[in-house]
Amino acid sequence: MPVNETHDPRLRSWVQSANTPGCDFPIQNLPFGAFRRSPSAPGRVGVAIGDEILDLNLAAERGVFADAPTLVRNACRASSLNELMRLGPEVWARLRSTISGWLRADAGDPSVHQHAVEPLLVSQSAVAMLLPADIGDYTDFYASLFHATNVGSMFRPDEPLLPNYKHVPIGYHGRSSSVVPSGTPVRRPVGQVKPDGASEPLVSASRRLDYELEVGVFIGPGNDLGDAIPIERAEQHVFGVCLLNDWSARDIQMWEYQPLGPFLAKSFATSISPWVVTLDALEPFRAPAFRRPDGDPAPLPYLDAEPVRVRGGIDLRLEVALSTARMREMHEAPHVVSRSSLRHLYWTIGQMVAHHTSNGCNLRPGDLLGTGTVSGPTRESRGCLLELTWRGSEPLELPGGETRRFLEDGDEVVFRGYCERDGATRIGLGECRGRIVPAREAA
Ligand code: CA
Repeated sequence: MPVNETHDPRLRSWVQSANTPGCDFPIQNLPFGAFRRSPSAPGRVGVAIGDEILDLNLAAERGVFADAPTLVRNACRASSLNELMRLGPEVWARLRSTISGWLRADAGDPSVHQHAVEPLLVSQSAVAMLLPADIGDYTDFYASLFHATNVGSMFRPDEPLLPNYKHVPIGYHGRSSSVVPSGTPVRRPVGQVKPDGASEPLVSASRRLDYELEVGVFIGPGNDLGDAIPIERAEQHVFGVCLLNDWSARDIQMWEYQPLGPFLAKSFATSISPWVVTLDALEPFRAPAFRRPDGDPAPLPYLDAEPVRVRGGIDLRLEVALSTARMREMHEAPHVVSRSSLRHLYWTIGQMVAHHTSNGCNLRPGDLLGTGTVSGPTRESRGCLLELTWRGSEPLELPGGETRRFLEDGDEVVFRGYCERDGATRIGLGECRGRIVPAREAA
C-alpha cells in the first residue's frame, strides 16, 4: 500500500484528543483492537482514535456500514479481529479509508460524519481491553543478531553465534494459551532449576525472572497446509503489529533448553499491547532491511527480494521502563532502562513469514509471531535484563538507589513503541505493561 491521503500529516480529527501532539492514536494511525464494555459483556472490536474507541460492532448494528460488503459488516460485528484479519489487504485499506473519512475534521465546516459517528465512540478509560484476536498459534523468532550474539557470548564464549544464524531465521513454537493482554499480572513461575555449583536440580520459584522487548506480528489471510507464502507476497499476510513481552525465567531456561529449546521458561506468560497498528499505518516509516556487514552470506533466494532489501524494515522505536513498588510509593515515574529500534533486526517480518511457511506449515488469521528480543548494538539498546546486567554481573542502578539483576516481586515493566520522522505524523503502539506478583508456594 502506498502512502495516501490517510497518512496526510495535515489531517485533523473532530475527536479533539486525537490532535494532541505526541498522541499515540492520531487519525493517521487507526489501530484495531478488541474490548468489552463491562466485565460480563461480550467482546467487541473497535478502532482507537485519541482517547476514544470507535465501536465497530455498534457501527455495524446501526447500519453505518450499509454500503460495505457483507463480509466486512460481519467482521465488524465479531468479538475479535480474526474475521477482519482473514479478509486481506485490499479490504483493510478500504476500511481504513472509510474510517479515516468518518473521523476527519473538514476545514472550517462541521464534519458531515460527526453527527452519525460521535454516538459510536466510547472512552478508552471506560472499557477493558482484550486480546485482539483468538490466537491459534504463537511462534517466537530470534531475529536480532545483537541479542543472539550477546546471549551466545555469555554461554558459549568460543562460539557466540551458531553457524546457522545468518542463513536461517531461528524460532520456536510458543504457547498461545498463556498470551495475555497488557495489564494482566504475571505470576512468578515455579520450576526445576539447577543453581550454579549445585549437584542436583531442585524445584524453586524462579530467581532470574526477565522480560524480553519484542514486537508481535498478527497474521492476516495466511496459507493452506502444504502451500508456501512467497517472499514477494509475505507482507500481504501481515495484518499489523503490537508490543510483546516474552517473559523469561532464565534459571529454568538454563536447565531445560538443551536440546530442544525454550519450554516452561517461557510458557507461563507472554504479554501483548492491545492495539494492533496496521502495516498500512506504518507505511510512512518503512526503511531498508538491516544492512548485512561485508562478508555475511546473502539470504537464500526464497528469503530475498528487491522490496525486502529496499523497504523490508520499519523504523519503529521501542523503549522499556521499569517501576518498582518503592518507586510507586514515592510517586516516581517509571524509569526508562533501554531504547531500541526494530531496524536492528537481522531478519525482516516478511522473511519470517516466508520462512515459517516454506515447509508448507500453515499460518492462520490471528496467529501471532514474535520478532525475538529487539536488541541493538549499544548497551542502552539491550532488550532484556540478561543482557543489560550481563547475566546479573553488572546490576542496573535505578534513580532511587535500588538495584536490579533480575525482576523482583512488585516490579512493573512497561514497553512503549512509536514511529516518528519529518514529514509524517507521529504514531504510537500504546503500551504493554505487566507487574510481577509472588510465586505460588513451591511444590
Ligand atoms: Ca523471545
